[in-house]
Amino acid sequence: MVSSPSARSAPPGKACHKQAIFVDRIQKALGVSLGETRCYIVETSEMGKVMGKHGWNQDDSRGVVGFQVGNDIYVLRQASWSVLHELVHKAGINADRLSRYVAEGLTEAIAADLRQSADEHQPTYPEETRWVRETLLPVLGLTPIQLGQVLAKSDDPPRKLAEMLVAKRPDLNRSALVDELRPQRTGRPSLNRTPPSAASGWAVGVGAAFLTAGALLLFAPSGQDSA
Ligand SMILES: [Zn+2]
Repeated sequence: MVSSPSARSAPPGKACHKQAIFVDRIQKALGVSLGETRCYIVETSEMGKVMGKHGWNQDDSRGVVGFQVGNDIYVLRQASWSVLHELVHKAGINADRLSRYVAEGLTEAIAADLRQSADEHQPTYPEETRWVRETLLPVLGLTPIQLGQVLAKSDDPPRKLAEMLVAKRPDLNRSALVDELRPQRTGRPSLNRTPPSAASGWAVGVGAAFLTAGALLLFAPSGQDSA
């Protein structure tokens, strides 16, 4: 699939900053195995090529410091602080299993909570993370890691999360939530930048206009994940 993480890349399992330490920490925290994980250190041009093979265009991949697809993780040489975030994706919190917006926000919140020193993480996706911490998690009464445990183990994270939300908030529309929490389709990167809005009345200020916008974005063609 991806043919050229090239001779520059170190052997799988040894390439990335604190990889073994992070894998162990994430597995203990989330209670799942990361399985086979190949991590590659790449330059900017290589990152663009890899992401292009998975449906991203050049503009979308600009500024991306980390990328996870399947068992492979790509990290910019100058951004070793993104390894922890990308490995959380590998644990099962990613846009191939769940709405990109929720997956990024939750991944960031988990990575931040697992961070033990300055070299291990820098904040990304501030809007998504704020939504997860201030809107989603208070409804559920869970910490990021607790929700991560549930979703990483689930065979159907959108359905699971929708069920958890409706259990706490019976006024929410379960099927609409499942719909909005759906992951991107294979090879069609999701650039969904809006939170689920099926929970109208859930988030402050979310109304019909947002619902329409969210649905349109959800169906827009687009990719895996970044940063
Ligand atoms: Zn990410």
